[in-house]
Amino acid sequence: MSDTDVIVVGSGAGGSAVAYRLIEAGLRVRLIEKGERLPDDGSTLDIHKVVHQGAFKSRETWRDGRGRPIVPEEYFNLGGKTKWYGAALLRYGEHEFEADAAHQCLPWPIGYRDLAPYYEEAERLLGVRRFDCEPDLARLLARLNRNGARWQASPLPMGLAPEILADAEEAAHFDGFASVRRLKADAEQAFLGRIGEGRGFELITGAAVARLTPDPTDPRRVIGVRLADGRTFRARHVILAAGAMHSPRLLQRHLEDTGLTSLPAYAQVGRNFKLHLLTAMLAVSTGRKTDLLRKTTLLTNPHLPHSSVQPLGFDGELIGTLVPRLVPRAMARLIGDRAYGFFLQTEDGSHPDNRVVAAANGADASRLDYDARRLEPALREHRRLVRSLSLSLLGAGYLPFSQRIPLHGTAHACGTLVAGDAPARSVVDREGSVHGLAGLSVADGSILPRSSRVNPSLTIYAWALRLADHLAQRLQRQTPA
Ligand SMILES: Cc1cc2nc3c(=O)[nH]c(=O)nc-3n(C[C@H](O)[C@H](O)[C@H](O)COP(=O)(O)OP(=O)(O)OC[C@H]3O[C@@H](n4cnc5c(N)ncnc54)[C@H](O)[C@@H]3O)c2cc1C
Repeated sequence: MSDTDVIVVGSGAGGSAVAYRLIEAGLRVRLIEKGERLPDDGSTLDIHKVVHQGAFKSRETWRDGRGRPIVPEEYFNLGGKTKWYGAALLRYGEHEFEADAAHQCLPWPIGYRDLAPYYEEAERLLGVRRFDCEPDLARLLARLNRNGARWQASPLPMGLAPEILADAEEAAHFDGFASVRRLKADAEQAFLGRIGEGRGFELITGAAVARLTPDPTDPRRVIGVRLADGRTFRARHVILAAGAMHSPRLLQRHLEDTGLTSLPAYAQVGRNFKLHLLTAMLAVSTGRKTDLLRKTTLLTNPHLPHSSVQPLGFDGELIGTLVPRLVPRAMARLIGDRAYGFFLQTEDGSHPDNRVVAAANGADASRLDYDARRLEPALREHRRLVRSLSLSLLGAGYLPFSQRIPLHGTAHACGTLVAGDAPARSVVDREGSVHGLAGLSVADGSILPRSSRVNPSLTIYAWALRLADHLAQRLQRQTPA
């Protein structure tokens, strides 16, 4: 007998959106989240706690492809990484649902049109809006193409409430911080916050799912989960939404425990890991910068079709923290006050050897094997992106400094349980069901076949809403267990 209709594992972008939509469809949902609800005492806006101490980040140690220890920047709390995200909520372009062999990009099994109504719904629920470009950035942009470059600026769709402009502390601390006054639309606020009392929803926090439970008479059917504390729960359907670093490890362990390693999808679990090629750039000039929100504009360039640039939503104090440690702190603050920060991202293609592997056979840690050199076209374009923007900034009268984001910067991790029609080349099908298993789907960023040139969250929210729609119809057709 099932305790509930659906168990959702993880409450980030995918988990919260899928839970919300299933409840709307009249199903009973138990959402199990490893982390706790974040405090609302202001500590999530405190630079010392958040940036210097990293007090809210995961401490889990992994090993990279060469066996060196790394601690990826993951967050375990209600709302997942969306509590900390920069709230840039962009749709993928239509062409980004197609394969792009020259850039090593896989195709989606669905097209833009299949996701379009769910993009619309996600944007409405998240209150996506655009803000005016502020004076310092407008001045910089007006001079950016002086050297003949072709940067195109457009307003950036943001999940921020308009009232944030009247709250200087939150406006300067939303990118990498968690809102206290609910001025940022994150997964908890925009989706879980809409689920009313007594609607068949149960939330369990502070409890990690350790294993999936197979049906004793048919190992190809998943019937529930076991938590790290030993509790077990049953459901008609289980949805993995633990994030692209974690869902593949749960599935890998399950397939190995149940001896289902001959399923074609097993060979693909954890592969095709992507996280964008990322660089942070500071543009320094003599004048003090007083823009408040900063993150208002998206820059693209037709010569760099897999790349985009966003300003960082960082004020002078925060930018000062990006200045290398060997610079005295007073000087770093002086530079910070006169700098604009930018975030440069290039779509990384897929490579089967870029992968997440769960710790097994006595290994002390899971492995994150990712080498950008396996993605030559992406690496070449990213270098051109950094060079082009640096030259344009120099031409505009700004001194650029750049720093590549290292592997532990896993903010945009995705692609490890890739969606596709062929079980031999993918893990989930076009509706998110795991190929070859009954009762198991994936709703988080793991399914993304492409990372695209923009940030992933809006596409994850849309995918999860679509998955829930299809699953609800299927479960409603079946008699409850
Ligand atoms: C600093 C920062 C800035 C970002 N800025 C942007 C941005 O501006 N725009 C954008 O689109 N994206 C941004 N991102 C990325 C975005 O936050 C992620 O792409 C998105 O949150 C991924 O959603 P998800 O559902 O795949 O995973 P997550 O949001 O990571 O959620 C996974 C959840 O599962 C839980 N979990 C893990 N293991 C278990 C387990 N065993 N049992 C139970 N629960 C488990 C985790 O605690 C977590 O709550 C940013 C991320 C960061 C960190």
